[in-house]
Amino acid sequence: MSLEPTPCADLHCHSTVSDGVLSPDALARRAAERGVTIWSLTDHDELGGQSLARQTALEVGIRYLTGVEISVTWARQTVHIVGLGFDADNAVLAGGLRATRAGRAARAQRMGDKLAALGMPGAFEGALPFVGNPELISRTHFARYLVQAGYCPDIQTVFDRYLGDDGPAYDPMQWATLESAIHWIHGAGGLAVIAHPGRYRYTVLERMAFLDTFKELGGDAIEVVTGSHFPAQYSEFAQIARNYGFMASCGSDFHSPTESRHDLGSLPPLPADLKRVWEALL
Ligand code: AMP
Ligand code: MN
Ligand code: MN
Ligand code: MN
Repeated sequence: MSLEPTPCADLHCHSTVSDGVLSPDALARRAAERGVTIWSLTDHDELGGQSLARQTALEVGIRYLTGVEISVTWARQTVHIVGLGFDADNAVLAGGLRATRAGRAARAQRMGDKLAALGMPGAFEGALPFVGNPELISRTHFARYLVQAGYCPDIQTVFDRYLGDDGPAYDPMQWATLESAIHWIHGAGGLAVIAHPGRYRYTVLERMAFLDTFKELGGDAIEVVTGSHFPAQYSEFAQIARNYGFMASCGSDFHSPTESRHDLGSLPPLPADLKRVWEALL
């Protein structure tokens, strides 16, 4: 009989290196305190937190998998592809992520202009104190400023009114291609995972085509249990994982103790029959 405790995996969260509010080391400690035993920091388009995350995970005695969440444009919408278990020193991956980040500064200026035209001047400057990494200004930083300035009661309201994908201050970006993102992750020895598939607003046909294309391009896994899914979606995407032969991943998508719906380590386990993506990496 095995004496190993049941693993608790949380393979999706964000630090101050992208749009989270805690540092990579604070996140590692929080993950350990909350019972996570296999953890990954998956900052948006950026690997700057990886070595501190790994080092602190080692100190607090939890397993670490390298992670990143790549912004991708597919069929005119943004999708997020998580990479796990890659070599964080891979130059092609680093170059691809640098190119993906490159348009963010100009885009932030445009979002600031749009918010000014909507009667909220100074949002670009106002967002800057919330930004932990000058190469990674995101909508979340604007949202935090608009709440602080009293324009909206909370982050969700900012996205609902202004910054969501249909919102009047949204600036559509051309991110990486799906093919490139998978190629960069695989080239660095990692596995490619569709993040929060339940969040994309594709038609039924578009969603099928997206999953087919991800499969054809060698995509490995999908998030089934994520902080972005409602419980009813766990079984929906578990079935999609079975139908497509994808491995399954699990992650809170934790950004902040006060903003996130789910904390690190707080999600239910994956359905027992699904192949766990971390088992292919450890
Ligand atoms: P960006 O990469 O700048 O387009 O910002 C994307 C980030 O905004 C996501 O990673 C989330 O953290 C946040 N976000 C996007 N949509 C929403 C939403 N509807 N509600 C709350 N946060 C959101
Ligand atoms: Mn985010
Ligand atoms: Mn995401
Ligand atoms: Mn995320």
